[in-house]
Order: sequence, then structure tokens, then C-alpha cells
Amino acid sequence: MYKDTLLLIDGKWRPAQSGRTIDVVNPATEEVIGTVAHAGTADLDEALEAVWKGFQTWKAMSAYDRSKIMRKAADLLRSRADEIGRLMTLEQGKPLAEAKGEVIGGADTIDWFAEEARRAYGRVVPARRADVFQLVIKEPVGPVAAFTPWNFPINQVVRKVSAALAAGCSIIVKAPEETPASPAELIRAFVDAGVPEGVVNLVYGVPAEISEYLIPHPYIRKISFTGSTPVGKHLAALAGTHMKRATMELGGHAPAIVFDDADLDNAASLLATSKFRNAGQVCVSPTRFLVQNGAYDSFLDKFMGSVSKIKVGDGLAEGTTMGPLVNARRLAAIEGLVADATKHGAKVQAGGRRIGNKGYFFEPTVLTDIPLEARVLNEEPFGPLALVSRFDDIEDLTKEANRLPFGLAAYAFTSSAKRATQVGTMVESGMITINHLGLALPEVPFGGIKDSGYGSEGGAEGIEPYLNVKFLTQAGI
Ligand code: NAD
Repeated sequence: MYKDTLLLIDGKWRPAQSGRTIDVVNPATEEVIGTVAHAGTADLDEALEAVWKGFQTWKAMSAYDRSKIMRKAADLLRSRADEIGRLMTLEQGKPLAEAKGEVIGGADTIDWFAEEARRAYGRVVPARRADVFQLVIKEPVGPVAAFTPWNFPINQVVRKVSAALAAGCSIIVKAPEETPASPAELIRAFVDAGVPEGVVNLVYGVPAEISEYLIPHPYIRKISFTGSTPVGKHLAALAGTHMKRATMELGGHAPAIVFDDADLDNAASLLATSKFRNAGQVCVSPTRFLVQNGAYDSFLDKFMGSVSKIKVGDGLAEGTTMGPLVNARRLAAIEGLVADATKHGAKVQAGGRRIGNKGYFFEPTVLTDIPLEARVLNEEPFGPLALVSRFDDIEDLTKEANRLPFGLAAYAFTSSAKRATQVGTMVESGMITINHLGLALPEVPFGGIKDSGYGSEGGAEGIEPYLNVKFLTQAGI
């Protein structure tokens, strides 16, 4: 039931000109389940001509008509959620319910940006002369090159494509080679809904070769990247050299703060759900659990209770709540981080090892007593590791919460309005959620600060990176 994935260039689904493909592996079984076409420069040249032509067509269409096509794509995606969810679980590993939820959430994102398309307002600025009109106009920035990772194969693509299309931009998406089929089905929904040829193009290949080729090209006017901070810095520098607008959604190392006055049952169960969702391969995953001394023992006990209920397995199997890691590289990375932490004296309270020897399964893991020098407290783990430590007072907490160069997401649990406000103002983070899990909805901003990147991929702010501001002043004749 898994499909081989082709390129989409100028409205045609086709193999690479060279005929090259890359194998796709099911991370739960390690079996090759299909292939994805591997674009070379001849394919990219065609995609560039197509995206330029597509831009002329799409920007000439009214926002009203673009919005209608987008809403139709959202409806198609929703109606295909079962089938696309299965593809995603096969290639990415996440439990089927999470995969289907991601498809449905993708449809909501398209709907949100379809509505934003019709609200890309400009302004009229009062002039100094009665016969002058001063207009501020928003125009699409131009063809976009987008680079997206494997952890949310649809969500990462849909945010970029929807915002670009809403603004009137065309786009080339370099989607993830590890998980190619589900994002291809997302793009198919746009094509089937009537997005004209060349407006959306889809390629796969060697990520570095594609980004080095597309970013400097004069047709490309904006780039958007989601992935690790080191790659993001490299691509942002390349974009800067060629004066291209850029949005960077990069790594995180989220503090999850539990005060001694918190509802500990609520905190333990929500944080366990959030930590091990998608096997921890989430940029906003709660990672550094900072627990106030008075609540530490009780929180740890309740948290371990929630963790013990997690059922690891094939995402297609009934009852699975956590799937495998995406590939052997991630498995080795997580094993390395745990080995380094224990070498530094960390205690393994739960998990800590690979499960079996087939499939990239790793136990939900809880570490305590980790010294600050351990790599895991400094690098983004991007896996099922909860790192629990203590804090004493708000000064202590602020120092640790803001210690790292990341600033993507933060979580806090407290029954005190004063503490909630303190966290809300003192934590250096693009997004903060207090006493619940409230991040990443289409209608709210999504993005980081510091080394976690710049630009926002949601809310009313989400369309702005795809729009140029033009000032037009006009005097009566
Ligand atoms: P990686 O750094 O090799 O790649 C991360 C992503 O960037 C992948 O999708 C990859 O295809 C892409 N990429 C890499 N080099 C590129 C280039 N030169 N041009 C364009 N795209 C490029 O790491 P990985 O092993 O795939 O993932 C592990 C790390 O990536 C994690 O530790 C995490 O920090 C980060 N990551 C972050 C997110 C996120 O949502 N922010 C998603 C996936 C991975």
C-alpha cells in the first residue's frame, strides 16, 4: 500500500531525468518500503522555470479565487486523512492517531491561510496635500524555496506552502527524503483542487545540493527552512549573501518548569504526553524539566507513573502511544547522549536503552542528577529523553531557563498568577504555555528567538514573511 514518490514539476508527476531514486525505509521494521525520485540539476532547472511561470499566473489571480482553491485543497486533504495517515506512519513511525491528526491539522492550517489571503491589507497614510494619496500596498515576495524535515512530514510543509500561496507566491518544496509520500499527498491535494501548473513544485534529493543550487538563483526571492540550528545558520548565511528573505524555524531545548504550588497530577500527565509525542522528535518538546525543590519527589513519582504507561511499538499496531525513532542516525545519537550523561554521573530513572534489534525503538527515558557539562544539557536531544533537575528560587530558575542559546518553547505549571507572569516575562522564548499545552495552532504565532531562528509560521504574522511592502504616492493631475 506504500507508493513510490515522484517529483512534481510544472504540474507533472515524473521521475528524475537521471532515473535515480533513494530508498525509503519503515523505521519500525527497517524494511525498504519504496523509493523517492532523486532530483538533479536538470530537474531543478525545470522546477525553477516552472516556479517563475507559476508565479506570474498565481499573483494575477484574485485573493478571493486563490482562497477558494485553497479551501478546496483543505477539504480534499481531510477526506483523505485515513489513507495519508497510514502512509505517514509507514515512513515516519509515529502512531496512526498522531499521523491522522497531523493530516487534519494540516487542513486547518490551509483553511487559516486561505482566510488570511483575503486579509493581506495595505494602508492609506494621510498626506500633506489634499490631492495626494499615499498608499501602502502588500505584494507577494515572489517564488519561494522551502526546505522541510521528516518529524512532521505534512505540518512542516503545509505551513510554508499555505502561507506562500495565500500571499500569491509560487513555491518549490524540498520535502524530506526519509518521509516523502505523505507530503507528496498534501501537494496532490493542492493540485487536485486546481492550483495551476508550476505554482507548487516538489523535489527531493541531496538536501545540501538542492539548497546550494536554489537559494542563489535569481528567480528565488525567499527561503524558509525548518531543521537543525547548524544547518539553519548555514542556509541563513547563504540567503544573506544573496539578499534573500528568510524564515528559520530551528532547534530548541525547552524548559518545562514545575513550581511547588502546581497541580502536579496535571503537570506530570501533560508533560509525559508532550515529551514522548513523536518519540520526542519535536522542536518544541519539553526537555529540561526544572522542578522546584518542594515538589521534586512528588512530581518525579507521578511523572514516572505516567511514563510507565507509554506503550512503544509499531505505529500501526493497536494501542501504540510511541513509535520508533526515524532512522539509525537518530538512534545512535540518542544512545550517545545517554552514554555521555551517565558517564558524567547522571542517574537513569527509567529507560535508557534501545528496544530489541529490529526497528529504531528506544525506551522512554528519564534522567536525573545530570551535571551541566553533560552534552544532553547543551545540545538538542531530539528524542525520548526527559532531563529532570531541581531549582530553588526564581533567580536560580531564570539562570537555568535562559542558560542555552536556544529560545523556542517553554512550559510552566503553577497556581500562582504572580509566578505565571514572572515566567511569561523572564523566560527568553518565542512561545510559552502555562498550565496546559497550547502551542502550534494555525491561528497563533509559531517561531523562536536566539539560535532557534526568526520569523513566524502561524497567526496573523504568518503571511507577512511572504509579502513585500510597496509604498505608492499619487498626486492628482
Ligand atoms: P540534519 O541537521 O542533518 O538535518 C535536519 C534537516 O535539515 C533535515 O530535514 C535535512 O534534510 C535538512 N538539511 C540538512 N542539511 C541541509 C542543507 N544543506 N540544505 C537544506 N536542508 C538540509 O539532522 P537530522 O539527523 O536529519 O535531524 C537531527 C537534528 O535536526 C535534530 O537534532 C534537530 O535539531 C534537527 N531537526 C529539527 C527539526 C525541527 O522541527 N526544528 C526537525 C527535524 C530535525
